[in-house]
Order: sequence, then structure tokens, then C-alpha cells
Amino acid sequence: MTGPNGSQSRPPVVPATIRVRDEGADLPHTSSPVLPGLAHLTRALAGAAHLPGTPGVLVTLDPTLKADAVAGVDACTHTPRIILGTDLLHQENPDQLTMVVAHEIAHHVLDHDAEPGARVWSTLTSALFLLSLGALFLAAPRWIVVAATDAALAVHLIGRLAATRASRRQELAADAHAVRLLDAIGRNGRATLTACLATLPAASRWHRLIGWMLDSHPSPAMRLRHLATDHR
Ligand SMILES: [Zn+2]
Repeated sequence: MTGPNGSQSRPPVVPATIRVRDEGADLPHTSSPVLPGLAHLTRALAGAAHLPGTPGVLVTLDPTLKADAVAGVDACTHTPRIILGTDLLHQENPDQLTMVVAHEIAHHVLDHDAEPGARVWSTLTSALFLLSLGALFLAAPRWIVVAATDAALAVHLIGRLAATRASRRQELAADAHAVRLLDAIGRNGRATLTACLATLPAASRWHRLIGWMLDSHPSPAMRLRHLATDHR
């Protein structure tokens, strides 16, 4: 957008709004005393985030998510959406909810919906499996069928590892950006996230040894280490 004197001007920031839609059949959470504070926090963070061209952030509650949350886009309105597990409304420490909302809005700011890399690996895996099936159907030499199948499995595994690594990097980037968003609304982002992450259950021994490579989310210890070294 260009201003009257030819300079680049920022698009107007539409005040963020929040609608809370409860996914539960009996709507037990719509009267939670936490909701006014949640709406205020979300509005403030969405405003600080300058999400471009958004009419607001839609917050929905989903009991099946328990204390987890995910970021997405509303299919009908294309509005940025945050889906919160209802257990988050009942946390002893209200900063847990603050951290989660800031983290999910950070995913929107950093455009973490787009994962082109995952599609490339998936397409390559499918093509190799089709090649394997085609070779089998055409009674090609056995070594061609075996080689194509092995290649498909190898590409699938490499793609899975690449996807989980990319996802973990996105999670760490969302934490770092959540710190900046919270700082922008006058909260101490680093202190908030550090205190909340320190209370999360530690990863299992198996996870620490090898399981982390297949996990799309970094362990709390990993997140804490990244926060301690991120000083942008
Ligand atoms: Zn996340």
C-alpha cells in the first residue's frame, strides 16, 4: 500500500475480535470465569501480532484436547483459529493459558500452516510405491520390485524425520516469538514461558534417547534450552 507522498504505509490494523465457540455438546464452558480474561488476552496479543487482513481470532474450546492446543484456520471464514483444550481453563497457574495463547498466535504470525516440504516427501513416497506396484503388475524382475519398495520405505522414513524436525523447529520458533508478543503487551515473556515450561512433565528416558527424533514437538527441556539461548 502506498501513501499520498509515495511512501509505503502499513495496512490498517483491524481490531482483533474473539468469538468463543464451545465444541462440547452441552456447552459447559461458555460461562467459565476465565473467558473474559482470555478474550482480553487474545485481543491484545492479536493486536500486537499485526496479523495482516484479519477480522479477528476465533477461539474454540475442545474437551478432547485436554490441556493441548492447536492453531488452524477456520474453513468457512479463513479466520485464524486457536483451538484450546478445556483443561487449560482450569489450570492452577493462569500463566499456562497465557503461554499457550501467545504460542498459538505466534504460529499464525510465522505462517506455520504451510508445510510444502512434507508434501514433497509424501509425493515422492507415493510415486515410488506406485513404481513398485507397477513393476509387480508388469512382472518386472524381482530386484526392481524390491529396490522400488525399499526406496519408498526409505524415503517415507526420511520424510517423516524431516517433517518432525521441521515441526520441532517451528515449535521452538513459536516459543521465541511468543516471548516477543508477550513483551509487546507488557508481560515478561521470557519469565512467563520459562516458569510455565519448568512445570511441565519431563520427557521419558526413551524419548530423551531416541524418541525425540520422531516427535513433532520438542520436550520441555529442549524448549527451555532454546529459550535460554535465543536472544533476538
Ligand atoms: Zn505449537
